[in-house]
Amino acid sequence: MSQLFNVYPLYDIEPVKAQGSYLWDTHGTQYLDLYGGHAVISVGHCHPYYVEMLTKQLNSISFYSNSVKISLQEELAEKLGALSGYPDYQLFLCNSGAEANENALKLASFHNGRTKIVAFKKGFHGRTSGAVAVTDNPSIVAPINFNEHVSFLPFNDVESAEASITDETCAVIVEGIQGIGGIHVCTDEFLQTLRRKCDETGAILILDSVQCGYGRTGKFFSHQFSGIHPDLMTMAKGMGNGFPIGGVLISPKFKASYGLLGTTFGGNHLACAAGVAVLDIMKEEGLLENAAQMGEYLFNGIREVGGYKELRGRGLMIGIEYGFPIKALRDKLLFEHKMFTGVAGANTIRLLPSLAIGKEEADAFLEALAAEVKQVSNVG
Ligand code: PLP
Repeated sequence: MSQLFNVYPLYDIEPVKAQGSYLWDTHGTQYLDLYGGHAVISVGHCHPYYVEMLTKQLNSISFYSNSVKISLQEELAEKLGALSGYPDYQLFLCNSGAEANENALKLASFHNGRTKIVAFKKGFHGRTSGAVAVTDNPSIVAPINFNEHVSFLPFNDVESAEASITDETCAVIVEGIQGIGGIHVCTDEFLQTLRRKCDETGAILILDSVQCGYGRTGKFFSHQFSGIHPDLMTMAKGMGNGFPIGGVLISPKFKASYGLLGTTFGGNHLACAAGVAVLDIMKEEGLLENAAQMGEYLFNGIREVGGYKELRGRGLMIGIEYGFPIKALRDKLLFEHKMFTGVAGANTIRLLPSLAIGKEEADAFLEALAAEVKQVSNVG
């Protein structure tokens, strides 16, 4: 019998049905999803409009190669440009966050002909060769690693950015909010310094918005709080609400040429139908506004519960760092309160719920947190 080459699942729970912010397992037990399958479920599980649009697409045409016209790609680019506030940017479509970052790095190097990359400590950009080379995590970097071209600077450190971005720098790649690294938000000053240094040196500024983008923070991209415009923005996760799709938003200063970037599956009919449905729902249901409001509601509620060391994030990208390992707390939330949460390091609970989460779900979480935090912190 063939075996799967992985160490998952972490938990012996199999969700077989989902709706909105809820999942049901094989025994019919209901779980509240505050993790969104790792920031992927943006508009809610099995949203009826999303299901209808994908079903319709499946029944007409699900795939043909990029050698033919696919109007859905244009519709997606237009709607994404309008909702994100980048209507003059171009869209390259691919299949994942790592692939989006690979293509952004390549595009930067094609553009200015340089090879040196600046990335940041605790940053995460994916697991394929180029993406992992700019990721600061030795445990997932293979001996064949390509990071001889990469310097890792301290995150949010303006001085080292000033000193290290030079005329030799090809690109600077940074997450607007570090996700896996622990929910650390870029300061305005840091992002503005990166933008200015890239302008002065001709380096390309890449904002990895795979996790912190797509409306999660209440703005379409988290860097929009700092008033800067990157040259390239990468995205995936929430873009397809579970259907694999990734993309790079590309400044008008880049010119496409035949064969420069490409992929077999990127921009296929089903992925684009999912992408268009997500944007339609986000707009129709005001999900950016909901993310901002519910984010504030959750942040206030968590502050009231207390017991943590530091509370970080923006909107519905929330990191609660405790002064003790959170495994016991997370297990209690999962097994006793039936709530999925994420982690970011040993001491930090990470919340990445659907952008459509409501007060009822937020209150249920806050009640469970209040009941458990004191107990667990005493034990821990
Ligand atoms: N960039 C960031 C910020 C991420 O959080 C992730 C995944 O967690 C990636 C890139 C990689 O995305 P994917 O797993 O779709 O390749």
